Amino acid sequence: MADEKTFDLVVLGGGPGGYVAAIRAAQLGFKTACIEKEAALGGTCVRIGCIPSKALLDSSELFEQIRHKAKVHGIQVAEPQIDVATLHKRKDGVVKGLTDGVAYLFKKNKIEWLRGFGRMTSPETLEVESADGAKTTVRAKHVVLAPGSVPVELPFLKFDHERIIDSTGALSIPQVPGHLVVVGGGVIGLELGSVWLRLGAKVTVLEAMPTILTGMDGEVVKTADRILRKQGFDIRTGQRVTGAERKGETVIVSVEGQEPIECDYLLVSVGRRAYTEGMGIAEQGIRMERGVIQVDERYHTGVGNVYAIGDAIGGRMLAHKAEEEGVAAVEFAAGKHGHVNYDAVANVVYTWPEIASVGSTEEELKAAGREYRVGKFPFSANGRAKAMGEPDGFVKVLADAKTDRVLGLHMLGPRASDMIAEAALAMEFQGAAEDIGRTVHAHPTLPEAVKEAALAVGGRAIHI
Ligand code: FAD
Ligand code: NAD
Repeated sequence: MADEKTFDLVVLGGGPGGYVAAIRAAQLGFKTACIEKEAALGGTCVRIGCIPSKALLDSSELFEQIRHKAKVHGIQVAEPQIDVATLHKRKDGVVKGLTDGVAYLFKKNKIEWLRGFGRMTSPETLEVESADGAKTTVRAKHVVLAPGSVPVELPFLKFDHERIIDSTGALSIPQVPGHLVVVGGGVIGLELGSVWLRLGAKVTVLEAMPTILTGMDGEVVKTADRILRKQGFDIRTGQRVTGAERKGETVIVSVEGQEPIECDYLLVSVGRRAYTEGMGIAEQGIRMERGVIQVDERYHTGVGNVYAIGDAIGGRMLAHKAEEEGVAAVEFAAGKHGHVNYDAVANVVYTWPEIASVGSTEEELKAAGREYRVGKFPFSANGRAKAMGEPDGFVKVLADAKTDRVLGLHMLGPRASDMIAEAALAMEFQGAAEDIGRTVHAHPTLPEAVKEAALAVGGRAIHI
């Protein structure tokens, strides 16, 4: 007979959406469990996404600095070598530290991890099947679905997980490829492409659309494209890839109207899709659209006490968005008020320089017929960026023409990922460009460029 367990709240999925929801539920006094099928908690983000990719980006950035930037500072080093096995060992250690950290937080908050594949059998019950086939029935007053997403597979570019790989494969290529071809000039293609380019690979990006990073601020994208090409990226836009063929250790990529391209690894990074199949979700009457779970503004599915969050409910596929939704859904389940301000969700691309944005792009404001003013400031005029030897990029503030309220803030520059928090906070507080401009910023720091761009909205930047 199957085991049976009862909880106040059960979360399906232990990613950033799910594990954060579980911790918030425990804080609110719910007897909580989290169902996760993998051997470690943390989901896509911690195991095979944000964290390992940033570990590799940081290692490869250090390599790049030693190789190309150290001598400018008068530091003489012999030509550095990369030991890829150690690179991966360090990355795996970073991941293990953080997945263990989530397990520790579960223990601390008395959250039970039910390891196995979860399936809904009614709006209040789930069945958890462990790897050895043992089944546990779980009853819960509240259910939060957070099963996340998986890479999109193109029918004409099927993954073989050896040479035709997804992002998970690109995080563990065992040696620096001679030639890496990336299909998709989005965030994964450019981040993981940057890793291997810095370590010495030739990297070709084949993007279907007229530009890379579709949907980001056009001016930022144009500058990023120029800088990335200068770094060595072979970026080809408007490409129609039609297939790929394995020939031993090489892959021949076919592109319409061009000579076939030979490479040793082909990374297909053309987006991710909600992963919701085989979990009995639609069977409970929960509305799905192309695999995406449909929820209302309370993250409620419309069935029983079942909520859903994260990559599986659509919108931007970002860890911090999933986390905030997890907190809000559980607060609603507890009869409190939850809140996610989607206008203030920052988006970062961890290339170097980094690209970060929050709020509307100039293109979106134009399309909406909104009257706005622009303030810009280049890092070449920022003291700290000069001291670092990082003059590339700029900050751009978009503010309402009448009220001066910040509508969007976009930047390309060193550590833009850290600087965007100030912009998100300004937007959360419905701040004006003048509010940022009148805030004292420590000197000399990179965020002074944000202050100056905000001042520039009113035509009063000091250092330009
Ligand atoms: P997931 O993290 O996908 O977690 C879902 C979990 O549910 C998984 O662990 C899965 O095993 C489990 N699960 C699913 N179904 C079941 C089931 N039936 N039974 C048991 N367990 C189940 N976002 C950022 O914000 N910043 C970044 O820098 C960033 N970098 C990324 C880099 C890469 C290479 C990738 C692939 C993604 C990156 N992302 C980044 C996106 C981010 O990882 C996702 O948006 C985030 O993980 C979504 O969280 P989630 O909890 O909704 O789903
Ligand atoms: P993406 O949507 O960012 O980029 C996919 C790119 O592939 C787009 O530019 C698209 O035009 C292109 N494309 C689609 N079909 C194509 C085809 N047939 N041929 C050539 N190009 C094609 O998706 P991604 O890079 O796979 O990343 C998936 C998601 O993961 C992201 O949207 C993001 O939400 C998340 N992510 C976030 C971060 C971060 O926050 N730094 C990092 C990695 C991943």
